[in-house]
Amino acid sequence: MASTLKLLLVEDNPDDALLLERELRRFGLHFRWERVDSPEGLEAALTQPWDVIISDYSLPGFDAPSALKMVRRTQRDTPFLIVSGSIGEEAAVALLKDGASDFVVKTNMARLGPAVERSLEEAGTRRERDQALEALTRALQARDEFLSIAAHELKTPLTSLMLQAQGLMKALMPENLASLNRDKAATTVERVERSARRLNQLVDQLLEINRVTNDRIILAREAVDLVTVVRDVIGRTAELATAAKVSLQFVAPARLVGQWDPDRVTMVVSNLISNAIKYGANHPVDITVVDEGERARLEVKDRGIGISAEDQQRIFGRFERAVPSRHYGGFGLGLWISRRVIEAHGGSIQVSSEPGQGAGFTVILPREAPR
Ligand code: ADP
Repeated sequence: MASTLKLLLVEDNPDDALLLERELRRFGLHFRWERVDSPEGLEAALTQPWDVIISDYSLPGFDAPSALKMVRRTQRDTPFLIVSGSIGEEAAVALLKDGASDFVVKTNMARLGPAVERSLEEAGTRRERDQALEALTRALQARDEFLSIAAHELKTPLTSLMLQAQGLMKALMPENLASLNRDKAATTVERVERSARRLNQLVDQLLEINRVTNDRIILAREAVDLVTVVRDVIGRTAELATAAKVSLQFVAPARLVGQWDPDRVTMVVSNLISNAIKYGANHPVDITVVDEGERARLEVKDRGIGISAEDQQRIFGRFERAVPSRHYGGFGLGLWISRRVIEAHGGSIQVSSEPGQGAGFTVILPREAPR
């Protein structure tokens, strides 16, 4: 074992401790060690983590079963071995039941090294298994949460779509046709279209999860004018912006062409602009495209609720959200997908924000594919 272990000895006899040390070094273990011989000493030593603890069975006023109990209160997985004269089968079984790793008799000290090594290996395996189990539990939890959020998110535009369609059907019944208000009907159709678009965006995000998670993202690069992409997205979100009383201010050169994947870049722009509208608290949003020579810079800056410093990195993670879902709908996928797509293009995305003062997202996209 190459790394240096931290070994704690619960032993009242310094000579026995030295004997034990020599035995373990002879076996080839590298370790630093400390010795304690009382409950108070052990209590103090247990404020730090140990790789392995070896205890004598009986010490004056103290013994291995009580030491084991103290250890297990704070260090559930640290291997705990007992070294002693013969203690009888029953006592040994009781110790193993309480979580001792092994028992070595003093007349057979050659067994100590292998016993320590094995208990360390077992602790490592246990740790890995626990971590895997924890990760699995977390993943299952995230999936369940996600399914309920997804169902809820899809349901909202779907319900409004159904209501609007039913309203239209009623208005188009022969007996109602005479009093049909064309403007009202047109507004309803617009709402139907908006709900359908929202559903479409959500389904697109769902479809993108697998592609973005499983493989390297395969980009379909072609010559794309970022200014046109942004202008189109603004056009498509104009109605949403008006409904949210948000004005979109756009500053850009006439054209800015790069080798990008048009659908992916459109998705990024659309995510950032719809977030700025959603979280923009009815204030104007500034959208800027800047030609930086070999790179394009896109900035989307709102004056809305903002993001706290501790949330600013987290929101780029999958399903990560920094707002209560009761107030703001969403999957927590938009920024995650956006970052992966931008990085696949060799670019970067950054946020700067003060809570209550708004958020600014800056995307840098190299115009050419990296060689
Ligand atoms: P969604 O908006 O669906 O939750 P995103 O991945 O687009 O998912 O955003 C993740 C989180 O980042 C949001 O839930 C929100 O907390 C925060 N966020 C994103 N954009 C903004 C913004 N412009 N202003 C404030 N918070 C934002």
